[in-house]
Amino acid sequence: MSTKATYCPHCGEPVGESEDAFCKDCGSSLSTMETGINCHNCQRIIQDTDIYCPHCRHFTSFDA
Ligand SMILES: [Zn+2]
Ligand SMILES: [Zn+2]
Repeated sequence: MSTKATYCPHCGEPVGESEDAFCKDCGSSLSTMETGINCHNCQRIIQDTDIYCPHCRHFTSFDA
């Protein structure tokens, strides 16, 4: 089971109101995984390849 992202993990664009599986802006997948690393801001699961947290839009690139 996966959760829908609120923000694009690649470009940070808000996508919460969209049902699209991919970001309209950059084409990144907007579904989130069950496993990964924890966002330093909201502690939810993100991928280490994510630039922005898809849940809170925290800029994560240099955190890990
Ligand atoms: Zn995007
Ligand atoms: Zn977060």
